[in-house]
Amino acid sequence: MKQYTKDKQCPFKKCGGCDLRDFSYAAQLELKQKEINDLLKQFGTPEPIKGCRTPDHYRNKVQMAFANNQREVVYGNYMPQSHTLTPVKDCMIADRKANKIFEDIADIWNELRLSVFQERSGNGFLRYVMVRHSEKTGQYMVVFITGNAGFPKKDIVLKTLLQRNPYIKTVVQSVNNRPTSVILGKNTFTLYGNGYIEDELCGKKFRISPASFYQVNTAQTEVLYKTAVELGKFRKDETVIDAYCGTGTIGMIVSDYVKEVTGVELNLSAVKDAEYNAKINKVKNISFICEDAGKHMENLASSGKTVDAVIMDPPRSGSDERFLESLVLLGPKKIVYVSCNPETLKRDLEYLAKEGYCVMKIQPVDMFPYTSHVETVVLMTKKYINRN
Ligand code: SAH
Repeated sequence: MKQYTKDKQCPFKKCGGCDLRDFSYAAQLELKQKEINDLLKQFGTPEPIKGCRTPDHYRNKVQMAFANNQREVVYGNYMPQSHTLTPVKDCMIADRKANKIFEDIADIWNELRLSVFQERSGNGFLRYVMVRHSEKTGQYMVVFITGNAGFPKKDIVLKTLLQRNPYIKTVVQSVNNRPTSVILGKNTFTLYGNGYIEDELCGKKFRISPASFYQVNTAQTEVLYKTAVELGKFRKDETVIDAYCGTGTIGMIVSDYVKEVTGVELNLSAVKDAEYNAKINKVKNISFICEDAGKHMENLASSGKTVDAVIMDPPRSGSDERFLESLVLLGPKKIVYVSCNPETLKRDLEYLAKEGYCVMKIQPVDMFPYTSHVETVVLMTKKYINRN
């Protein structure tokens, strides 16, 4: 089963990022298929996993830590639970231009003798750099995560960086001097451009701000969202809740096929982005609510309201009891569950199966080549209703 990818081996094996880097892409898909088949077998036979056409360099968001290696500034990743940085040049899952931007920033730091943050003392300036981009619009965003707010030699840094990488549309600085695994800090300033970039998915535009949740593999996100639409078999007279909607991506794509969508999301800045996205796409039949998704459905159910379908895309921890209880109370005909964690998916499907829902289809999608993460879309319908 274990197959080395001779021509595509990652030279930096210690960064902790890609746990399946030693397997050929075909072998990775086989592993993921087996995991889903084994884990979810009580619910039926999963469909063959939808793999990526081009599994290398797929990430549209990449972050690298910056540190000193003797006299030189280098960048890479910290191994989990470690303060030792593994230099990573030409990361094989990062976008190629993002790799070039990291290299240029390290060169500029070395040329101008600028400082990097020291984890131990809390002194020094540059901590991380995050690069996000859109393949469709060609726009790039660079976020400097720094230990303090001043930016030494800012003008020359920006001028050189933009000259070498003219596709950069915005540069942002985020200050974070706390010892935390969360990379972005609370104070964020736009240094160049308007602080966000735009992407297109399934024919709709989406604004991406530095902290927005946005799927990292754009090509496969289209596959994932189209799968959710296909499985839902939505109709023009249906009302839909897009629970855990983030910036409204899935709901906005589904809105073309249904009467009305309500997106529910806990994070206020994601809701603001979602409202902006609805406006620029002129989507009139969608609205967003900033609330706990379970609480929202509880209120709907207790006021006697119903919906035809709920699309749910929870974080890795899956849904909580409150969500699942209120979902059952609300009783939609269809549930489309988009999951990034098969273990919590299984747990939640077990709950819903006991409460009268039937698993009709299980479709794994590979969003994260070279890592063992698997995304899965599941259609459940209320028992005793016609499949079509
Ligand atoms: N569907 C979106 C985002 C999925 S990520 C997309 O595909 O882009 C999961 C989202 O759930 C995050 O935006 C997170 O802020 C939100 N979230 C987490 N717990 C929540 C809760 N209890 N109620 C509503 N939203 C929640």
